Amino acid sequence: MSAAAKASPAARALIKLGLVDALSRALHLPLRYEDETRLTPPLDSRPGESVLVELEMVQVPAQPPRPGQPWTALGRCVISGQRVQLRFVHAHAGLRKLLEPGQRVRAFGEVRHSFSGCDMVHPQVRAVQPGEPLPATLTPVYPTSASLPQNYLRKSIAAALPRAPLHECFASADQALPRGLLPLRQAVLTLHHPAPTESLDALLDRTHPAWQRIKYDELLAQQLSQKRAQQLRRQSAAPRLAPHPNPLAQALLQHLPFALTPAQERVLAEIQADLSPPARHAVTPMHRLLQGDVGSGKTVVAALAACMALAAGWQCALMAPTEILAEQLFGKLVEWLEPLGVQVAWLSGSVKGRRRAAMLEAAASGQAGLVVGTHAVIEQQVRFARLGLVIIDEQHRFGVQQRLTLKDKASEGDGAGADPRSAPLEAHLLMMSATPIPRTLAMSYFADLDLSVLDGLPPGRSPIVTRVLGAQRRDEVIARMSGALEQGRQIYWVCPLVEESEKLDLENATATHALLSERLAPWPVALLHGRMKAPEKAAVMAAFKAGEARVLVATTVIEVGVDVPNASLMIVEHAERFGLSQLHQLRGRVGRGSAASACVLLHGGPLSQAGRARLQAMAQTQDGFEIARRDLEIRGPGEFLGARQSGAQLLRFADVQHDGDLLDAARERADRLLAQAPEACDAHIARWLGHRTEFIKA
Ligand code: ADP
Ligand code: MG
Repeated sequence: MSAAAKASPAARALIKLGLVDALSRALHLPLRYEDETRLTPPLDSRPGESVLVELEMVQVPAQPPRPGQPWTALGRCVISGQRVQLRFVHAHAGLRKLLEPGQRVRAFGEVRHSFSGCDMVHPQVRAVQPGEPLPATLTPVYPTSASLPQNYLRKSIAAALPRAPLHECFASADQALPRGLLPLRQAVLTLHHPAPTESLDALLDRTHPAWQRIKYDELLAQQLSQKRAQQLRRQSAAPRLAPHPNPLAQALLQHLPFALTPAQERVLAEIQADLSPPARHAVTPMHRLLQGDVGSGKTVVAALAACMALAAGWQCALMAPTEILAEQLFGKLVEWLEPLGVQVAWLSGSVKGRRRAAMLEAAASGQAGLVVGTHAVIEQQVRFARLGLVIIDEQHRFGVQQRLTLKDKASEGDGAGADPRSAPLEAHLLMMSATPIPRTLAMSYFADLDLSVLDGLPPGRSPIVTRVLGAQRRDEVIARMSGALEQGRQIYWVCPLVEESEKLDLENATATHALLSERLAPWPVALLHGRMKAPEKAAVMAAFKAGEARVLVATTVIEVGVDVPNASLMIVEHAERFGLSQLHQLRGRVGRGSAASACVLLHGGPLSQAGRARLQAMAQTQDGFEIARRDLEIRGPGEFLGARQSGAQLLRFADVQHDGDLLDAARERADRLLAQAPEACDAHIARWLGHRTEFIKA
C-alpha cells in the first residue's frame, strides 16, 4: 500500500474505529445483513423487503444529474422483462456513467409498486457483466462512521479474515469447550458471511450458535482477567490489623446510643477475617464490597473497621464522592472517635493554603489516624505514614478511573514506612455501596470482589409510604406541607438537575424556593444547589440538620447518604427524570427517624405506560434489590458500573442480563483454565479485552 493510500480518509477512519489489525477487524461483527444471493423478479418482492434485481438499462437521461437533485433512469428486468424506474432523490454525477443505456446493473433495495409500474428509490446499484456469479453468502452490514464507506470496510474486513489469529487458545482435551459451542474461526467466519440458509432471526438477535461462541469467549476473558487480578492480589502482602472488638472499638461501642444489629456484627466478622486472620495465615489485601441498602447502617461499620486499623497503629483513609457526603462522614467520625483520642484530618477541594498544608503534614507524619475527604484524599501530593486501610463510601459514584488511581495509591508503598527493608505492603480496601448490584452483574463485573451484605435495616424504622401524583396536584401537595410542619416534621423538596440545562434547573429551584417560602411562611425554607460553594452548602446543611431550616429545597446535591432523622417527608419533582435506583437513594433520606414517613413523586406531562410502570414500582416496593433489578432491566448496567464516566465499553458482545447461562459456564471453567494453562489464559484475555483489562479490574 502506498503512503498516499495509507493516509486516505477511509483508512484513517478505519484506524479511528480501532480497526488497526487483522484481529480487531475480524472481531468487528456485522449489525445486519443484505441478501444478495439471489435475483428476485420485481413483482415477487414483498413490501418492506429489500431484494436484488438485475436490470438492463433502457432509458437514461443524456445529462448527468446535478449533485443533490432528483434523477431517474429506466431499466428492464432481465428475468421478467418488467420495467423498473430507478429513482434517486439526491443523485450524484457519477450515476450517469454507471448507468449507460444497455448496461447490465444489479440494484438492491425495496421495490414499490404503483399504478405507473415498479419503482426502486435510492437503490444501491452496481454494473455487472451478463452471467456474473451471485455472492454465495449474505452481505454483511457493519457498524461504521460517516467517513468510512461500507464497501471499503467490507473489503478491509474480508481481506483481514484469512490472516486473523483465531486459533483456539485452549487446545487440549481436558480444557474442552462447553458442549455445543462452535470453533472460534468457524463462528467468526459464519457471522461475517453466513450462508443464506442460516436463520436470519437468530443472527440478528444474537442467539445464533456463532454468536454464542463469541459471547462466551468474551465472558470467559472477563472472568479470567478478574481471577488473574485476584491471584495477583493474593500474592501481595498487607498489614495485619487489630481484631474486632479491640479496646478502641469497645470504647466506641459504649458511647453509641444503639447496639449493633446481628447483620452489622456478621459483616464486621467478615471484615476482621480479612484484616486480622488467624496467626498462621498470611495477610493479603482485602478487596471487599459492603453492600447495604440506604439507611442500613454502613457508617458505623466503617468506623469500626477503621478502629481495626487504628488499634494496630495503622492509618485509615475514608473517601466519599461529594463534599457534602464526605463532610457528614467527617462529622460522624469526629463525634465518635476524637473523644477517644484519635486525630481526624479533613481533605477536600475546598481546603486550601495553610490549612491544607497542615492536613497534609498530619497525614504524612502519621499524627492523623484518620483522613477523611473527597477524592482530594487520593491526589498526588497526599502521603501517608502508615496507610493500612482505605474505605470508599458510595463507591459506585466514583468513576472507573478514580478507582484505578485509588488502587495505585493503596499500593504505593508508603504503607511500608514501618520497615523500609521489607517489601511494600498494600493497603486493605473496603468499598461501600447502597446501590445493590444484581447477581449477574456482581458475578461478571465484580468477580474480583468479596461481597458482604448488610441485610435488613436497624430496628425502629417506620416504612415509607410512596405516592405517585401528576404535577397538576402540586398546589395540593404544598398545602399539605403546612400540616406536616406543624407536627414538627422537616421536609425535603427535590428539584431535578438535568445536566444539559443546568442553568434552567437552577432558576427552577430558585423559583420553587421563593414560592415555598411565600406559601409556607413563616416556616423557614432553605435552598441548596450544586453551584453553591462548599462552605455555603455546609452552612445550609448544618442549619437543616439543627432544625433551623424546616424545609430544604435542593437539586440532587442532597444525593445519597445525607442523614437527618427528623426529616420525614420528601417531595420529588419530575420524578420521571430520575433512574429508579437514584429515586430509591433519594427516598432513603426519609424514614430514618421514628416518625411515619412519606415520599411524594410528582411527575410532569402525560407519562408513557413504561414511565408510569417505573414510578409505580417505587410505590410498590422498598426493597433496594428489587428496584435495582428493575432498573437494570430498564436502563442497562451503566448506572451500576460508573462506566459512563469512563466512556469505556466493558463488554462489547455479551450482555450479562441475557447471557446468564454463558456466564455461568465461563465462570465454572475459568479456575480450571487458570490452573492448567496460564499462558493460554493470557493470550485469551489479550485477544478479547486488549487495553480494556485495566478497566475491568477496577
Ligand atoms: P447508610 O448505610 O445509608 O450509610 P447510615 O450509616 O447513615 O446508613 O445509618 C443510618 C442511621 O441508622 C444513622 O442515623 C445511624 O446512626 C443509625 N444506625 C446505624 N446502626 C444502627 C443500629 N444498629 N441501631 C439503630 N440505629 C442504627
Ligand atoms: Mg452512608
